Amino acid sequence: MNVLKRVLVKEVLRMAFRDINKNTTNGQRDSVHGEFGLCEDWHSVREQVQVWLNDQDNESVIRKLLDGITVGTKWNKSSQIDETLLDNLLSFLRGQLVYCIDKVVSSSYLTQEFLSERLANAGCLPMFGFPTRVRNMYTRWPRSGNPWPPSSGVIERDLEVAISQFAPGSEIVKDKAVHTACGVVELAPQGSRVVSKPGFVPDLNHGNPSPMGICEHCQAVVYLPGTNNPAPGGVVPDIQDCPICQNHAMRCLDAREPRGFISTLSPKDFEGSFDWSPRSSRPFLGIKDINAQQKQVNNVCISSFADEIISINDNGGKGGFDLQKAKVFDNNYSGVYAEDNDGQNVTVGGPSFRIALLAKRHTDILLVDIDNWPQGVFANPTTVEGRSAWYSFAFTLRMASAALLDVDASELDAGFRVTNKHGIPSGSAFLCDKLENGAGYSSWLGQEENFKNLLIQVTDDNSISIFSRWMDIKHSNACDTSCNLCLRDFYNSMYHGLLDWRLGMDMIRLACDQNAKVDLTSNWGHRENPWQNVVGCTTSRITKTMENLGYKTHINVGGLNVYIHKRPQILIERHPLWTDEHPVYQKIVMLIKEKYPKHMIIPMNPFVAIRRPADYV
Ligand SMILES: [Zn+2]
Ligand SMILES: [Zn+2]
Repeated sequence: MNVLKRVLVKEVLRMAFRDINKNTTNGQRDSVHGEFGLCEDWHSVREQVQVWLNDQDNESVIRKLLDGITVGTKWNKSSQIDETLLDNLLSFLRGQLVYCIDKVVSSSYLTQEFLSERLANAGCLPMFGFPTRVRNMYTRWPRSGNPWPPSSGVIERDLEVAISQFAPGSEIVKDKAVHTACGVVELAPQGSRVVSKPGFVPDLNHGNPSPMGICEHCQAVVYLPGTNNPAPGGVVPDIQDCPICQNHAMRCLDAREPRGFISTLSPKDFEGSFDWSPRSSRPFLGIKDINAQQKQVNNVCISSFADEIISINDNGGKGGFDLQKAKVFDNNYSGVYAEDNDGQNVTVGGPSFRIALLAKRHTDILLVDIDNWPQGVFANPTTVEGRSAWYSFAFTLRMASAALLDVDASELDAGFRVTNKHGIPSGSAFLCDKLENGAGYSSWLGQEENFKNLLIQVTDDNSISIFSRWMDIKHSNACDTSCNLCLRDFYNSMYHGLLDWRLGMDMIRLACDQNAKVDLTSNWGHRENPWQNVVGCTTSRITKTMENLGYKTHINVGGLNVYIHKRPQILIERHPLWTDEHPVYQKIVMLIKEKYPKHMIIPMNPFVAIRRPADYV
């Protein structure tokens, strides 16, 4: 839904609920439950909302609302509303809105209790007035509900940052003290008192309606069927068969959204050092059936749509944190769950559950897929080279998009998603807006003309393009993988080891032209292939490494380096995205086999040779 539609829906629902509540004999709807009540009560008012929308008398109200919203926009020229727009919106409100809300209410992906909040999170209402993204960590147990939030003893973070920085065991410094996070709770004022509520949605006394599966082999992220009970603590969650790559490698995570956090309530003096935890959750795009329109631009298929971006902190692959019911200063409070800790103030008991921390964000997404792969070239998401290519591609697009839109790169997130295409796991890069419900960047980039310009922005051989900056001899000679002058920045620090500017640029070249030569030798336009900096001359780092590993003979066959060990074993150096089906590789294998029939032939590539040379021992 676009912004105009969201604002109109909110205002129309507000009017409808106001009239419906006026006619309700049992008094006002509880305003604590938000303007539109609880999700579970929706079915009791949906008919009345439909009647209100159909009522001809209310058409003038809607017209007036739309008039107010569109003043000064292109839909409202000289105080005349665009009649086609009005007709379209009226038929949406009358024919579809109630069904849209039904869908949101019954969705197991959404967990908000209040209808208004859930509709906003589903992208049906504007987010204004829903501070749902900010999470508190209480470092002191508040005794009074006034003022609220308490004036001290609270640290605030955006939810996505909070699931890393407030995760159990993380330390955070504030006011010369080190606070150790240990659990979750939601606290709310009730008069002058403070009440505790479940720290997770859904609460740990329920199962999880949509646990997440993350495949360790192909990186696919899928929504799994609901469970009846929370995942047991003390054990790493089960591995299941992955529906995308069929490997027995999908970790099932009981991931839940924290409503608030609590520290051990026993701060230590800050003595200049503490365990700083960098962001440890990555943005994911799960697989759902979304029929977004696909557009063809050069050799890519792009689509833009709104969906949920998920961030998960699974405690470094352990599947989550072991949490138990907790007492605070020896008092029972409902909804407080914590990890066993050294402090005396938050103590735990009873069964433990292994829960991953989840942050969801509904926003605009741009999906970018390579259309045609040349024979024997593929970025396979189950290999480290393939993953590197996708991440490097995504972060190159992100950097170029920020330049094209003239915004800071931190306004956009990037990643890649894996789906099953023609029976094999295949990647697509994605960009998404950082802002809840989108700032419009990704949908703008999803227009053919703009995406075309984006590719030009990267590849143009002028002094300011990414291409010419990275290809500059000073950079290309010095940067074997990635550095702060090319792909690395503060926000992608968790991918630094994986990012590679040459692979990123190869993917961009392929995106521009399906006939682009992806290899280690062919010129890029009138410039020398930058892989030559790494593999080119006989004094290259790789040649020396191979010599040290016992590959004493080094020959060049058909442009490819071949390293021969007396073991007998032969390494053929090829591009990181080449597969065994590449015609040039196959030809060289034949030549080598004739000459060295007893040797075992193994493909090698500079990506792995630089990062993990021991793989070729
Ligand atoms: Zn898989
Ligand atoms: Zn670099």
